[in-house]
Amino acid sequence: MSRENLSKGTKKVSRPLRVGILGAGLVGATAAIALSRLQDVKVTVFERSPGPRIAGAWISLQVSGLIILDKLLELEQIQRILYRGDNNGTYMVRHWRTGEVIAITPSSAHIADKFKQGRTHRVPLLDVLLSNVPRGAIQYSRNAVGHQVTEDGVHLIFDDSSSETFDLLVAADGLYSKIRRTYLPEEVRYRGSVAYRKVFPESQVLHIKGLPNDSSSWRKDGEVMFLSRLGLGQYGMVTIFKETPEFAATLYWAKNTGSEGLSRLRERFASWDPIIGQVLDTMQDVDAYPLDSAPWMKQLVRHDRIAFIGDAAHPTAGAYGAGATMGFGDAWALFRSLQESNTPPSSNPVTSSQTSQSLYDVPRALRLYNETRYHFLGRVEQQMQLDGLDAAYISEAAHDKAEWIRRFQERHKNNTWLMEHDVEAEFVKTLASEPLWAAKG
Ligand SMILES: Cc1cc2nc3c(=O)[nH]c(=O)nc-3n(C[C@H](O)[C@H](O)[C@H](O)COP(=O)(O)OP(=O)(O)OC[C@H]3O[C@@H](n4cnc5c(N)ncnc54)[C@H](O)[C@@H]3O)c2cc1C
Repeated sequence: MSRENLSKGTKKVSRPLRVGILGAGLVGATAAIALSRLQDVKVTVFERSPGPRIAGAWISLQVSGLIILDKLLELEQIQRILYRGDNNGTYMVRHWRTGEVIAITPSSAHIADKFKQGRTHRVPLLDVLLSNVPRGAIQYSRNAVGHQVTEDGVHLIFDDSSSETFDLLVAADGLYSKIRRTYLPEEVRYRGSVAYRKVFPESQVLHIKGLPNDSSSWRKDGEVMFLSRLGLGQYGMVTIFKETPEFAATLYWAKNTGSEGLSRLRERFASWDPIIGQVLDTMQDVDAYPLDSAPWMKQLVRHDRIAFIGDAAHPTAGAYGAGATMGFGDAWALFRSLQESNTPPSSNPVTSSQTSQSLYDVPRALRLYNETRYHFLGRVEQQMQLDGLDAAYISEAAHDKAEWIRRFQERHKNNTWLMEHDVEAEFVKTLASEPLWAAKG
């Protein structure tokens, strides 16, 4: 039997907290690991794919994300699939035509080696995360088509007309989140660039003389090529460049563009550092990812019942190689907020005689979660605008190589405040200042 206590506008449940997570991508899976650790919580994850599925190629893991994963699982599982190369994970930023190193982006010196940034690919990363989700928590082939909020909870409605009710719904359903679009119907829009990505065996490129043994990015105005080994014997290529909306409309997410797509890439990079062409020459095909984006949520919670995490809340479209890391931060902040809002039965005189279950103050937890994350995420969004101004300033010198490099170096930022953001410290600060911000409503 379910019982709820209503006191002074806060709702406390005296049975296991019913948590529904929509989406079993990198962020939904991480939230499932974190929230399953809470006492007296029943976590159910719904994923519309028939099984584990992840598209894409490599992924950078940033310091902030690795610190969180270390709290949630044996970090050795991640270290095994992570590649750092010659410069301990530092990206070597190179001039697009000459390949000379014009900037570097190291992790801060004080960061322990095991937390320094690195690269891996998405399939083994998702595998590691899913292997840490409690068995049976994920239900596949469950496509949610809507939701309703009532006194009783959030009712998640599926395409077969079934529904499930939760005290807390965690929307981790990605960029095209149906739940977010109920509240913010702004169009998801093509942002003018396409990412082309591929992972292939590194044996394919071993013969290339002078191929850097690090993670490198070659920069030109508005265009970038990334090359790196990825560990587990794999090599990765990612490039992002502008394509017309008409051309992008012929593509779709993870479309294999075959040899035709590859020829297009070879042509595009013909005047770049020749080492790039040598790598492209070893490939057979390439996958395209037209980059869509949507405005970020300013408030990450709704109705004292719904929390948005990951791309559902802040679709980065690849910016800073930190989208998943930021999603891991959301999952950790939500976990800590719920943990803090839990009153063990023994210390609750009203209920200790009635039930052995814990109590959660979900509205308070969601306020803590929102307050912990939205300042930081707002700052990241601001940074993207600032970067846009810098990019315009740098590209004005496109025809003068020396001046272009000078401007690039002048404006180049390592953004350690973002990559190394300490979510736990932010949560502790939020908690300490609760009387101040909670009073402001
Ligand atoms: C080109 C590119 C490069 C990037 N590089 C990096 C990088 O290097 N480092 C990094 O950290 N991030 C990177 N990112 C960002 C990163 O990929 C995302 O931030 C991250 O994958 C978001 O994970 P998510 O779980 O929030 O969303 P998703 O991965 O989109 O997962 C959402 C899940 O929800 C499911 N779902 C959706 N709707 C429903 C529904 N109605 N019912 C049931 N299930 C549903 C989907 O099937 C999916 O499994 C990059 C992104 C791009 C585009």
